[in-house]
Amino acid sequence: MKKVMIVTGGSRGIGAATAILAAERGYDVCVNYLRNQGAANSVVSSIEQRGGRAIAVAGDVASETDVIHLFNKVDEQLGSIIALVNNAGFLEPQMRLESMDAARLNRVFAANITGSFLCAREAVKRMSTLHGGAGGAIVNVSSGASRLGSPGEYIDYAASKGAINTMTIGLAKEVANEGIRVNAVCPGVIYTDIHASGGEPNRIDRVKAFIPMKRGGQVIEVAQAILWLLSDEASCTTGSFLDVTGGI
Ligand code: NAP
Repeated sequence: MKKVMIVTGGSRGIGAATAILAAERGYDVCVNYLRNQGAANSVVSSIEQRGGRAIAVAGDVASETDVIHLFNKVDEQLGSIIALVNNAGFLEPQMRLESMDAARLNRVFAANITGSFLCAREAVKRMSTLHGGAGGAIVNVSSGASRLGSPGEYIDYAASKGAINTMTIGLAKEVANEGIRVNAVCPGVIYTDIHASGGEPNRIDRVKAFIPMKRGGQVIEVAQAILWLLSDEASCTTGSFLDVTGGI
């Protein structure tokens, strides 16, 4: 049976690794991205070179119009989805809460919270047996930050991941009897570009001493956890959280 997956923010980092691993495991993959078309195309090429099928679709997950366009494109070009990885997410430069203005808070919450809700909504409309779908699975990419709070760095980002955790619990229960499982992974500190976006490209070198395993994680380690949660091996697992944090 054809398996179709959407990975939001699939052009770089954890999303790119997830898209490539998913294709190796037989999924046709939509690689969503925000701006970096070159990176998205190179993920698609890498999948195609290994004999897989993938498309790249631009779209800001914070935009309802873009999300509807993204899902419609996938319906047309790949077919019915059975898997969504709500991975797109970002953070802003490190600062204390008293320096955060409303514009920043709204940008972070719109991309990380509203974006995940909108994509989950479009996925449920298509997957739920209530609407004639064949079921499926959603994995939300949360963060260990949702438990740690990210003091002095980005409490707004950490709080946005807390909202994702609550959505994971609620949505998992809402659609559990409609053929859809909803889970989350909580990465710790993983080697990607996101730390440069926060203004500290070498952040992992600073914080790894506080991690029980004394190292950052690799994107493939998160991708493997995501693919497991999406797989039939996790068939009775919903509303749960899988930490990929090195023990923190
Ligand atoms: P990254 O390397 O910075 O890549 C971010 C990806 O998301 C890119 O593909 C980017 O597209 C896309 N993106 C950003 N905003 C978007 C939007 N509004 N709409 C659509 N796509 C958007 O990030 P990452 O480290 O792989 O992070 C992936 C997820 O893991 C995020 O949710 C992040 O919060 C979470 N996470 C990461 C870590 C970590 O240490 N890296 C830890 C915990 C959780 P473009 O290429 O077009 O810019």
